[in-house]
Amino acid sequence: MAKIPINLSTGNIEKEEELIVGIDLGTTNSLVAYIKNGNAEAVKEENGTRTLVPSIIHFDEQENILVGDLAKEKLISFPERTIYSVKRLMGKSYDDVHNFENYLAYSIIDNDENALVKIQVGSKFYTPVNLSAEILKALKQRIEKRLKRSVQKAVITVPAYFNDSQRQATRDAGKLAGLDVLRIINEPTAASLAYGIGVDPNDERTIVVYDLGGGTFDVSILSISQGIFEVKSTHGDTFLGGDDFDRAIIDYWMENNQIDAKKFNINNSYKQQVRLLAEKAKTHLSGNEIYDFANKDFVLKISKKTFEALIKPLVLKTIDACNKALTDAQISKSDISNVVMVGGSTRVPVVKEMVSSFFGKNLNDEINPDEVVALGAAIQGDVLAGKQKNVLLLDVTPLSLGIETVGGLMDTIIPRNSKIPSKVGRNYTTSVDGQKNLKISVFQGERDLVNDNRKLGEFILRNIPAMPAGIPKIEIQFILDADGILIVKASELRSGVEQKIEIRSQYGLSEEEMGKMLLESFQHAEEDLKNRSLLEARNEANNVVLSAKKFVVHNKALFSPDVLENLAKLTTSLENSIKGNDKDAINEDMKILNEFSAPLAEKALDFAINEALKGKNIAE
Ligand code: ADP
Ligand code: MG
Repeated sequence: MAKIPINLSTGNIEKEEELIVGIDLGTTNSLVAYIKNGNAEAVKEENGTRTLVPSIIHFDEQENILVGDLAKEKLISFPERTIYSVKRLMGKSYDDVHNFENYLAYSIIDNDENALVKIQVGSKFYTPVNLSAEILKALKQRIEKRLKRSVQKAVITVPAYFNDSQRQATRDAGKLAGLDVLRIINEPTAASLAYGIGVDPNDERTIVVYDLGGGTFDVSILSISQGIFEVKSTHGDTFLGGDDFDRAIIDYWMENNQIDAKKFNINNSYKQQVRLLAEKAKTHLSGNEIYDFANKDFVLKISKKTFEALIKPLVLKTIDACNKALTDAQISKSDISNVVMVGGSTRVPVVKEMVSSFFGKNLNDEINPDEVVALGAAIQGDVLAGKQKNVLLLDVTPLSLGIETVGGLMDTIIPRNSKIPSKVGRNYTTSVDGQKNLKISVFQGERDLVNDNRKLGEFILRNIPAMPAGIPKIEIQFILDADGILIVKASELRSGVEQKIEIRSQYGLSEEEMGKMLLESFQHAEEDLKNRSLLEARNEANNVVLSAKKFVVHNKALFSPDVLENLAKLTTSLENSIKGNDKDAINEDMKILNEFSAPLAEKALDFAINEALKGKNIAE
């Protein structure tokens, strides 16, 4: 299981000085860090002192892209073209996020509740992966400029509660930004590494990581043993953070007539000014007793005492979550050896006081709380680069393993650099009514289309009992043993039909071949993503066309010829765009058809329910 150094600018496989950077891809702010003379250091902006890049992306009318502080300036003047909080959308379907759609000033599209969310800017559609990739590109450029060399390898952090698809989405974003993402690690794990906790493999302890950022709060309890970080429990609130502290200050100023409430609600630029002043007041009060500000437009004042009283209920909420996390992990406060503070909002003194008094412990808070995650990720990168010899490194698989799904897409089941041994299961279903056999083709490689990857083998799951498409529950398991031998098992769970094959995957390729495959995957990332989104849009659209046609057959009697004709027209138009190569056009037509058919479906459903209530169906 070798690591392969490849030089992306020359395409050569060579042993160059390994550099693996650490990236904190945050909801509010992101940053990149690396190890300089043995110490982790966050990279500052060019000619400046700031290390944080606001996680904000702005598209102008010409589709030029701005990221970070420059994009933040556009939040108020171009709300529909300025995307923030994209991390909240990673790996999510519309169904997952529609309850906080109000919180977003830009539009997310909802053509199918179960499909992944897309963001619409003008006539273009972007995935959260595309947008996160823009942030990562900006960070990559920042460090490349600083170090005057190319940087490809990175460790990226995610919250401990991120699921498989959110982690995969983060990985994809890295790839699209031209990064080779060697590891996705948990933010609390990174933070504790930055404090040197768990770096020594003989270190055994249980710690708490308390993370209060701009818009989210989470607390994790980790148990560390032999260099392995296990998340015992996590709790939190995905809508609680520094933004709420700002909001509390604004409300206070309004109540005391220091700002004009009416103007605040109707005048966007005034609103933005007030918001920035509230944030300034808050950060000022982290080190001073009083905030006093006056210019020609404002006379503002708030004391630290008042501020603390305002936010106390919010901080109590976080303490409550800490309590729950302890209960879930079945751990008492006395078992905790460290409390690590993460996130810009833990700079607020009363937050520190309340957390410290709850746990009855001094805090680990000496490292910049908004940098600590990136610094820890850089340390993990250094370990992976083999520069910290005393740290345990587990064996990893060098190339991703997966199967072919509809449209020739590679569905990765075990991502490259996963620890081995490893076992992962995933559920699939059939796409055709009455389908009895399912061919399972196993591939190895990083490209999005299986044709570009290496086929390892295939087998057929036979004798699936005839069921409508989508009903069979087919579980595919990949089991990679300690010797790198892959066993693939497929079973139809409703009927118990089962098949398996053994593949000796890892030994078929030379290091050189592996390096070549990896290199190709970076060079083609953009093109692959285009192909992939087009194929995904087509698959989705084909399903929409099929259901629209089925719907017409079953509900002809309910609607006027006009309505049916319109529906047919929209369906045909979608069929035509499916034949083309423009994913945005497909998405747009799909959206139009869905919007037209949703009320019809509702009417048909009402009718069916009424019929059922009449007892008609029961008698049959
Ligand atoms: P995220 O993890 O959500 O990306 P950060 O960890 O960067 O966010 O935290 C951002 C939040 O920290 C913002 O609400 C910001 O106002 C707040 N913050 C930064 N510095 C201070 C400070 N000195 N005092 C209080 N809050 C601060
Ligand atoms: Mg954070």
